[in-house]
Amino acid sequence: MKLIVTGGAGFIGSHLVDRLITDGHDVLLLDDLSSGKLENFQHHSENPKFKFIKIDITEQEAVKNIFIEFKPECVFHLAANADIGKSAHDASVDLTKTFATTISVLEAMKASEAKQIIFSSSSVVYGELPGPVTESSGPLLPISNYGAAKLSSEAFISSYADTYGFRAWIFRFANICGPRISHGVFVNFLRFIKEDPTRITVAQDGTQAKPYVYVEDLIDAIMIGWKNGKEKINIFNAGNSPLVSVNEILDIILKEKGIPKIQINYTHEPAWAGDIKTYAFDNTKLESLGFHPKYNSLEAVTLTIQKIADTLD
Ligand code: NAD
Repeated sequence: MKLIVTGGAGFIGSHLVDRLITDGHDVLLLDDLSSGKLENFQHHSENPKFKFIKIDITEQEAVKNIFIEFKPECVFHLAANADIGKSAHDASVDLTKTFATTISVLEAMKASEAKQIIFSSSSVVYGELPGPVTESSGPLLPISNYGAAKLSSEAFISSYADTYGFRAWIFRFANICGPRISHGVFVNFLRFIKEDPTRITVAQDGTQAKPYVYVEDLIDAIMIGWKNGKEKINIFNAGNSPLVSVNEILDIILKEKGIPKIQINYTHEPAWAGDIKTYAFDNTKLESLGFHPKYNSLEAVTLTIQKIADTLD
């Protein structure tokens, strides 16, 4: 198939591109390289089935023309601000990078022959609902601008699908980890420890705990949901168990780095306004279609730390 991947130079998008190329698809990667990196996809540069265009997806007319010319059947839309904390200070980050990019992609689909969209949504659309949440849990009241932009994007994907005859697969990702990870607790802790291995500041009391999915398992989840989701709008939680706390992540990092002891300063404040302390997903829907993650959350976290511990600047 001819496929477009927006945000394919980023952490998750580049793993998705790897899989789509392996599966024999023609892939056009669109990315402005604002947080994505050339090195994440350069290994495909000689492949005739792969093409990259550097573009800001909010440039609606230019994106439309690319879609009209390339004629994709399906678009995987991952381009977004992926750093929740960033937009607590400036909502325009998510309005532009997350919401406006979605509208631009939908307009380009409308102008071209693309009839399928796969969207990278997030657990944060559920707000602070007690878990484990299912895909029909509600009301959906996000507590971050990032979550609001994801939910608004989902709403417009639904309305465009109905109005213009598209089909959509919306994946609400839990916390994703693995090689090429670009931000978040792993990256922050490893950088802090590199600067000063004797002391570290940890948000709240470190007991905040979340499910982690290894990136290769997430790509399996997307492929299984895409192949087997038969509705006009297919919504899937992509989560894992058990919940892993920030304190546990720090312990694994210290062990990996051979640091026996560190002074921890707990802030007793959220890492950013809108941080959800803990959440749990019900994964039954994807599991019923055959999704079984190879790594549980703890294994995913441990493997990620082992793989990235010595690679960060
Ligand atoms: P990432 O920052 O590595 O990737 C995002 C990509 O989008 C980058 O390559 C960036 O350059 C690109 N991009 C951003 N704005 C753009 C624009 N205006 N035009 C073109 N390209 C643009 O982040 P990631 O962790 O790989 O996240 C990928 C997607 O998954 C995002 O939509 C994110 O919100 C979603 N998500 C991620 C997680 C996670 O744990 N990493 C969890 C839930 C949802």
